[in-house]
Amino acid sequence: MTKVLDKTIAEWVEQFPLLQELIDLKETSWFNPNVKPAEEALKEVGLTVEDIDDAAARLKRFAPYIAEVFPQARHTNGIIESPLVATQNMQATLEEKYGKEIPGRLWTKMDADLPISGSIKARGGIYEVLQHAEKLAIEAGLLTIEDDYRKLNTPEMKEFFSQYKVAVGSTGNLGLSIGIMSAQLGFQAAVHMSSDARQWKKDKLRSHGVEVFEYDSDYSVAVAQGRADAATDPNAYFVDDENSKTLFVGYAVAARRLAAQFAALDVTIDEDHPLFVYLPCGVGGGPGGVAFGLKTVFGDAVHCIFAEPTHSPCMFIGVYTGLQDQVSVQDFGIDNITAADGLAVGRASGFVGKAMQSSLDGYYTIEDEELYRLIALLNSTEDLQIEPSAAAGYTGPWWVTADEEYLQRMGLTPERLANATHLAWATGGAMVPSEEMNSYIDKGNSLL
Ligand SMILES: *Cc1c(COP(=O)(O)O)cnc(C)c1O
Repeated sequence: MTKVLDKTIAEWVEQFPLLQELIDLKETSWFNPNVKPAEEALKEVGLTVEDIDDAAARLKRFAPYIAEVFPQARHTNGIIESPLVATQNMQATLEEKYGKEIPGRLWTKMDADLPISGSIKARGGIYEVLQHAEKLAIEAGLLTIEDDYRKLNTPEMKEFFSQYKVAVGSTGNLGLSIGIMSAQLGFQAAVHMSSDARQWKKDKLRSHGVEVFEYDSDYSVAVAQGRADAATDPNAYFVDDENSKTLFVGYAVAARRLAAQFAALDVTIDEDHPLFVYLPCGVGGGPGGVAFGLKTVFGDAVHCIFAEPTHSPCMFIGVYTGLQDQVSVQDFGIDNITAADGLAVGRASGFVGKAMQSSLDGYYTIEDEELYRLIALLNSTEDLQIEPSAAAGYTGPWWVTADEEYLQRMGLTPERLANATHLAWATGGAMVPSEEMNSYIDKGNSLL
């Protein structure tokens, strides 16, 4: 009999009944009864608003450099940010499809259109490379924080960075962000890709001079190889997607920018006007960091919910059982094979699971075929193009409004729900080659 830690799977299922639905690859949800008020929950994170301030200030120092070296970021003055889009046509279409109207309004955060690398990884990933570059340059006496950072775009500085290497393990998008940013600064870059990584991402990185290693195994192995690669080289720096607090605060900066976007559009967020944010989750750093930022800005008015593929519900299982990163989905016979390549992670970040478990309201899963349908619908109703991982957030409002126990427990009355803002975080897509994007849309249409 296969055992997971010290118990059989049947014993785990008896203790945690929802596990059976996850093992059977059924779409399901869980709203955590142990979620805490923001003030208490934030104390468990181990990071503070000052850490996010520090990250935002660093991104601002780099903005003139970013605007200079990446034309796509020129119109935002080098600030890497995405549009907030009202998606009422999508809402109406989904209400019809799911046979139920949802109170409040559906919006989309278009991280698919983030400049430079076209996914949420353009937040944390690029930030961590910049942080590392700044630290090296300052230590070498080549830069001060009062300088105009455009000086980093010189042959001398590129020569300096070329002594150093940046390594990372990835399902694709983190590698893309780290690789493009590292190569631009002049670093040597090594990206260790899992079997999920799309060919075009590897080709793109190689065209930037990045060394790409391919493995016929999943994300955990790619990360372990990246870690091992960097460990033997004193001039190498490893971006640790499973544990990095730097990535995490880079993602967290999104929240204050989002608050300004809502304010500019006259959208009120408070206790009587709750905000629900649906975040596609892989290892957890991206959605966890964004959620951390959101809790610091909106407190108890924001409700963060993670979305995972039915084949890769690693954070769901980790938090629900309390076993966190001690277990993988494969331990329970779940294969971690999904079209949502950005979410194809079998073992969640232990750091994020523990830091954020009291802050996250809930978790749900979604089937791959539904992701394709949602891609097609978002394309036809809103003319927005996203990749499979990025579509996972759109079913969230129906899980939330279906769970009476959760709504009551959180004081989410019908009056409040009528004022709700539902935000699907559309985490990636712009870099997908148009042929591949069209094949996603065609596949979705054929399934509808
Ligand atoms: C990486 C990624 C995510 C999830 O981020 P994690 O930090 O792995 O949880 C979601 N969507 C896309 C498109 C991604 O690339």
